Amino acid sequence: MSGRRADNRRGLSLFVLTREGEPARKRMPLKESEAIVLRTFPLGEGDRLVSFLDRQSGKLRGVARGAKLPKSRFGSTLELLSYIRIWYFERETRELVRINQCELIESFLDLQRDYQAGVYLALMSEITEAVLGEREAADPQFRLLLVSARAIRTNGPIPAILAYFCLWTVRLGGWLGSLDQCARCGRAFGQETVYASPGSSGMCCAECREDGRGLYLEPAGARMKSISQVALLVGRAALSGTLERMLKGNPSLPGSNEISSFALDILEHHIERKLVARQMLVTGKSE
Ligand SMILES: [Zn+2]
Repeated sequence: MSGRRADNRRGLSLFVLTREGEPARKRMPLKESEAIVLRTFPLGEGDRLVSFLDRQSGKLRGVARGAKLPKSRFGSTLELLSYIRIWYFERETRELVRINQCELIESFLDLQRDYQAGVYLALMSEITEAVLGEREAADPQFRLLLVSARAIRTNGPIPAILAYFCLWTVRLGGWLGSLDQCARCGRAFGQETVYASPGSSGMCCAECREDGRGLYLEPAGARMKSISQVALLVGRAALSGTLERMLKGNPSLPGSNEISSFALDILEHHIERKLVARQMLVTGKSE
């Protein structure tokens, strides 16, 4: 405005610069979405780098300017697994979005007062971050995360919730074989114990394991672990209905830990590293 009126050279040159600069500086549209905060890292003096799961656009990373400073406008919206409404600017040429504003829809910060619940949340967020590609729509994973975190609030950190979360993440990733029949010979499992190599999506029967055929299941040569009938029952219950319905059936604790462990092995095999939060799990004697 002052540029338009000013006669002096300084004012005029400012005006010209702004006018010429504008077409080059493409306007970035402000996007609004629902998101779940997966992780944040300190960035520079007062900013935070935020990894979040946008309900529509999938996993994204962005910068929240000033989020580390006291009295930041982001308040407590950027905590682990916070369910938020988010506004951000996106540029096609840049990997990082610029987070403009967040509003808290639901916080899970209070759950972290319990050690095991905190580990569950950390593990769920770590897994989600590791398995999803950037900007791949992942609404089922979004809902899975939310329903699991809410179940921890209602029921406490019980192993069946983790089993449900892990098995479904493996299934959504397309890495889960059948829990009902041998991956080698195709025979339906009866009441017997079955076997799987750690990280293998398929399970095999005792016969196939004994004659060595089970060894052909990926990853080849890994020592097979047994999986009990009880664990299979928990797994089938998890995959056949809602988490709420599964929990009503009072699933076995050792079975839940066993099937979680099976699913976590598959996840670690696919992401090609150990999950940090898994080491912090307290599984007690049941494993
Ligand atoms: Zn078999």
